Amino acid sequence: MEVILGKTAGFCFGVENAVNNTKNELNKNEKVYALGELTHNRQVMNELENKGLIVRENIKDIPDNSTVIFRAHGVPPKIYEIAKEKNLNIVDLTCKSVLRIHNLVSDFVNKGNYIFVIGKKEHPEIVGICGFCRENASVILNEDDINEAIKNFKKTGLKKVVIIAQTTFNFEKFNNLVHKIKDDIGKEYEIEVINTICNATVIRQKETDDISKNVDMMIIIGGKNSSNTEKLYNIAKSNCENTIWIETKDEIHEIENVSKVGIMAGASTPKESIMDVVEYIKGK
Ligand code: SF4
Repeated sequence: MEVILGKTAGFCFGVENAVNNTKNELNKNEKVYALGELTHNRQVMNELENKGLIVRENIKDIPDNSTVIFRAHGVPPKIYEIAKEKNLNIVDLTCKSVLRIHNLVSDFVNKGNYIFVIGKKEHPEIVGICGFCRENASVILNEDDINEAIKNFKKTGLKKVVIIAQTTFNFEKFNNLVHKIKDDIGKEYEIEVINTICNATVIRQKETDDISKNVDMMIIIGGKNSSNTEKLYNIAKSNCENTIWIETKDEIHEIENVSKVGIMAGASTPKESIMDVVEYIKGK
């Protein structure tokens, strides 16, 4: 069986940096807390938790004076304030591409602009970004959200909208939403579009698209709660009906009438999980 493994499958630089630096901290400290899971990958999290990492979803549950990891998704300003009050030793592993967005939106809001954030409202990266927009933002996931966002913007009396995206958002969908927003209010208001989709994401999505057009079966590896993996799955599925989304090789069942398999993995999938799947398929 021919196996085509995506060159960009697996950890992006932001996740790799977060995982490696967390391991360093665990070598120095007996106990290290993380505010939220570092990656949406159970295997990686189990390994870190076995080394002493303690994950808490709420900063109030982290004991005063301890060491806390802020993951690649970033956190809103309020969390930095609480961490300071609790005298936490912050290891800030916010990805540099996310930090760039925090700086961008802060600047634009300071200059009196309103922000449309294209992404998933409840995603931690978006929660962080919105914190830096200080109430001057609306989140848009799909066309149904545009009217509400425009209503919110108009209520502020501001004159300009800046559109940015979640780093892992689908590029085509982002463009479609931008066009729709421009059609709706582009004549009345100034609109500036900044494509903040991470390059690692764009390349991975493009490669998934290319591979899935040329195989009989597509396997997407990644956590079931990983939104970037979900996007890869949707892209692959649109080209190749026989697409499955798995976390480990144990979830692969039927492989029939297949001669060419494509494999891609989300940004939080470690190399070992990917190679497990590759070896398993090659053995079929
Ligand atoms: S997907 Fe991009 S922005 Fe997000 S953590 Fe990875 S490198 Fe950073």
